[in-house]
Amino acid sequence: MIVMVVVGVLGFAGCQGMDQGERDADGSLAGKVVCVDPGHGGTAETDHFRVGTAGEREEWINLRVALLLRDMLEERGARVVMTRTEDVSVELKDRALLAVENNADVFVSIHHNATADPEVNFPIVYFHGAASENSAGVALGRLLARNIRDALFDGDTPACLISDRAIFPEKGANVLRNSYGIPGVIGEASFFSNADEEQRLKTAEANRVEAQAYLVTLEEFFAAEIPPIAEVGARVDLPPFAVLEGGERMEEEALAWRRLFLRGSELMKSGDQESLEEALDLFTRSARAFPDSSVAQQCHRYRVALLALLGREVEAKVEARRAEEYYVGVE
Ligand SMILES: [Zn+2]
Repeated sequence: MIVMVVVGVLGFAGCQGMDQGERDADGSLAGKVVCVDPGHGGTAETDHFRVGTAGEREEWINLRVALLLRDMLEERGARVVMTRTEDVSVELKDRALLAVENNADVFVSIHHNATADPEVNFPIVYFHGAASENSAGVALGRLLARNIRDALFDGDTPACLISDRAIFPEKGANVLRNSYGIPGVIGEASFFSNADEEQRLKTAEANRVEAQAYLVTLEEFFAAEIPPIAEVGARVDLPPFAVLEGGERMEEEALAWRRLFLRGSELMKSGDQESLEEALDLFTRSARAFPDSSVAQQCHRYRVALLALLGREVEAKVEARRAEEYYVGVE
């Protein structure tokens, strides 16, 4: 069995007395190969859900942030491999291949999110596979989720760090799967399906602040020892939990996520068998409707408790593992 290990990189030595420019030039990013992947591209004619109500397209936002990040990284001595620099379509597997062929030290895929509920807006970061196997992805993702939240949102906003198998249950996300072994994440800084956020994302300043959050994340990531990455399936093998995917997430059913969760929470208090069974069903539906919502982790945790209460111990055990491996705390 092959276990891929990413060799730890020591943080850079102290640099007292240097000014900011000198410190940046000798900083921890010098010589690092960073693959920056602006999600999607060139789909204005064919894709009708990755667009805000005012017409701003996700792929345009992704590219603006990515180009700003590229410039910031290059200023600090990193070698940046871009999967695209224009509004063009690039195959997912080719994006991952670019990272692999260039021996990238890290892979960051820049995205923005959409869902049927126009109120929703918070950051989500995805790592590939299971948390206990992909320690490097989790470490990178934890930094990114915190830094994006701190830069773009107030302190009460949730920030989620989630496995790509929570949203693509069979195999996870193509770009992360095919670049696995390189520490990598997909960042979804905010929701362009929220009208105020869409307006904000059109501004150069918002794009710059976001790119800066990625930059700080990469500096922090390389300043610490990088934890290992184990082969997919080495420790964790969970059955898929079916969810709404892609364009389905803009459908009516996806709007019910919060109502289902709140109703389930009420029913849990009553304690009789029928209510518990209904609550289980409601949490399952909420988690399927919006698998990376701010309450999805809690839905799965409640499902574990309810399955145990209903005497379904084997399922409870599987779901406990899923909650632990696919939904990671950011704090
Ligand atoms: Zn996207």
